[in-house]
Amino acid sequence: MITTADIARPFYLETGKEEAVFTHAFRNRVPVLLKGPTGTGKSRFVEYMAAVLERPLITVSCHEETSATDLTGRFIVKGAETVWIDGPMTTAVKTGAILYLDEIAEARPDVIVAIHPLTDHRRELYIDKLGETLRAGEGFMIVASFNPGYQRGYKELKPSTRQRFAGISFRYPDAATERDILIGETGIDADIATKLVKIGGKIRNLRELGLAETASTRLLVDAAKLIHSGLPRRLSVRTAIIEPLTDDDETMAALCDLADLMI
Ligand code: ADP
Repeated sequence: MITTADIARPFYLETGKEEAVFTHAFRNRVPVLLKGPTGTGKSRFVEYMAAVLERPLITVSCHEETSATDLTGRFIVKGAETVWIDGPMTTAVKTGAILYLDEIAEARPDVIVAIHPLTDHRRELYIDKLGETLRAGEGFMIVASFNPGYQRGYKELKPSTRQRFAGISFRYPDAATERDILIGETGIDADIATKLVKIGGKIRNLRELGLAETASTRLLVDAAKLIHSGLPRRLSVRTAIIEPLTDDDETMAALCDLADLMI
């Protein structure tokens, strides 16, 4: 999937020093790896920084079929002709965009090989199908995201690749910040936002349930949106927070009982 950021700055609440770190990395052409569980604001942060730095943003959601060809480009047959179509990485290199490789560890190994010369002083992209080497434009930057949940079956990133990136860790925000995110994102009352944040905190502490992922800020935002649009609170919490976390009836019932007491 390729998206281009809106010119307007999206809503983003800083949870640490990430804006300063990213800005300095950009100025010094240091690639950045955003680490953290899903739904902690990594993508939103990149969209925000692209707007702050006034760079176009090209996002690639990597999956196990994502290959270097998908990123660099390919020849396609058009009528009687064969024409070359730039892939998202080539476009980003040519236009000096921020290239965001979301979930980079999921991509095929040849993607990692292709980005290596772009992540060091060379800032070059070799397109083997054209036999061409491109130099990255002025504002070009590689940003990648990675979910370090390897014990739960996520893919790992090789140390030799990780060392090509500076890192920023994303965690669930503190309660006051998370409440403000819910309010800023959905317009919900502070009282309900506080309750949703408490439910999120409670579920995050329930390690014994063995959930593969826990209640992220994204899920709390979704619940807040449903409540704000008029769906009853408990049904909103069940639909947006609990259903996405489990398919097990007992766990679902336990989580619903717990949440019902809190909202
Ligand atoms: P990730 O890329 O880490 O999976 P996202 O960036 O898609 O997560 O975040 C999911 C949602 O959570 C966003 O759409 C936004 O509503 C909300 N969110 C999370 N963190 C923040 C934040 N710091 N500021 C504003 N919104 C946030």
